[in-house]
Amino acid sequence: MTTAEPVPSGTPTGPVMPALFLGRRVHYVAYGTADGKYPKTCRLADVTEVCRDTEHLGEPCAHLLVINPTGLFFPQHVRFDAGGETPGAAGCPMADTHGNPFRYCRCGWTEATQVGGTWHAGEGCEWA
Ligand SMILES: [Zn+2]
Ligand SMILES: [Zn+2]
Ligand SMILES: [Zn+2]
Repeated sequence: MTTAEPVPSGTPTGPVMPALFLGRRVHYVAYGTADGKYPKTCRLADVTEVCRDTEHLGEPCAHLLVINPTGLFFPQHVRFDAGGETPGAAGCPMADTHGNPFRYCRCGWTEATQVGGTWHAGEGCEWA
């Protein structure tokens, strides 16, 4: 049985974190190299433990077994990030152009991008 958490009023409605449970297969975003030679990329990962440290501001994070083509990696306290776009300021005069062709806007809008060192659901992942 799942219980929906009540959303406090005034909370910005960002992407909802998918269910995090032991054994779930997710994607982990591997950091790219600083020189851009290797871009950030999705790796398969299994959730080996759901961390519920209170210092994570109420949002559980994941301990993962990341399956790289060249070996395994065990990052801990991996937080969720859907990698969605950052909304810009309301009333931006350039709002029509958000998403194309700009990758960012002076109002603060940025295109959706992977955030290194975070996890997201593998289903429907647009980067895999
Ligand atoms: Zn992915
Ligand atoms: Zn943690
Ligand atoms: Zn803008």
